[in-house]
Amino acid sequence: MATIDITKLRKEFGDEGSQIVAVEDLDLTIEDGEFIVFVGPSGCGKTTTLRCIAGLEDVTDGSIEFDGDDVTDQRARERNVAMVFQNYALYPHMTVRKNIGFPLKLSTKQSSDEIDEKVEDVAELLGIEELLDDKPKELSGGQQQRVALGRAIIRDPEVFLMDEPLSNLDAKLRSVMRTELQELQQELGVTTAYVTHDQVEAMAMGDRIAILNGGKLQQVGTANEVYRSPTNEFVAGFIGSPSINLFTAEVNGDTLVGPGGFTYALTDGSPVADRDRVRVGVRPEDMEPASAGCMPSEVTVVENMGNENFLYAEMGDVDLTARVESQMRPAEGTAVSFDFEEEDLYLFDATTEEALK
Ligand code: ATP
Repeated sequence: MATIDITKLRKEFGDEGSQIVAVEDLDLTIEDGEFIVFVGPSGCGKTTTLRCIAGLEDVTDGSIEFDGDDVTDQRARERNVAMVFQNYALYPHMTVRKNIGFPLKLSTKQSSDEIDEKVEDVAELLGIEELLDDKPKELSGGQQQRVALGRAIIRDPEVFLMDEPLSNLDAKLRSVMRTELQELQQELGVTTAYVTHDQVEAMAMGDRIAILNGGKLQQVGTANEVYRSPTNEFVAGFIGSPSINLFTAEVNGDTLVGPGGFTYALTDGSPVADRDRVRVGVRPEDMEPASAGCMPSEVTVVENMGNENFLYAEMGDVDLTARVESQMRPAEGTAVSFDFEEEDLYLFDATTEEALK
């Protein structure tokens, strides 16, 4: 197992004058045995970061250490890492047994019997013993993904790197495999970095979540930390489903005045007081529909989620979302207004977008 220290990592693509900075000044320590998830919108640099850790990309600047050893200039095969990809990358002409055993056949001098024994142990761990003599095309997506995992596990790596490994599976199987993967990772205790664009998956799986945007690390923390204490407006907007409500409010003396009669009394010494305006965030579950509330809006859509509903409304050009009880199903066009608890508001600098509270 290994602690991974990433220092000032920078990766540029392209020729001089037309470079793309895929990863910029990334500092991060992934603890020994930790399951960390990189998440962010398309093109934010998740895969590039993972490929730099794997040794599949030369870094432009910065360093990567495994347990204090500088591996920055080591090639992928010199690092003790195993990577699992979205497309499984199985060899179609080989049986499951041969697919799983292949990395050992390549990299060690172990006898066929020794390799076979290891393959069987790994297959048992993953519950795919019965499939050992099948070819990949005879397997379901979930079974293929287990074989790909088996091939990663058999090398007994210090580090697992996984790039969207579940995204080809249907929703139900994906959720089963999430749990299986987490259990497996805990059992093996291998330091794991996992990439997904799905924030729900990130929240469900990661010991910690590293949120990237535009090649820059925005925040690293537990699911609770990034949800409850986002460092900036981007993180607040990216984490949480449905997304947080965001609008601009003016600072008027010691009161924040927002659209539709929204007001909020500022406490003494509030970092907001010396600004003209701020951005305000309210999570959908903290928007309480109220007959005498503020922000008069019109219902546009109600989505029935079974145990609750998502209520979407428009107040002029401000879109609002509330999570409400399943009994509450107002028709399109119904007037609705909302109430808030002050402690549930998030405040951000209107220019830097940094969190103020
Ligand atoms: P996605 O979720 O879409 O896979 P990502 O967050 O994994 O995105 P990366 O694949 O790391 O993002 O890409 C980051 C940026 O670097 C993007 O602008 C991408 O176009 C660029 N990029 C990645 N690989 C290369 C490459 N080999 N050559 C040139 N540009 C690249």
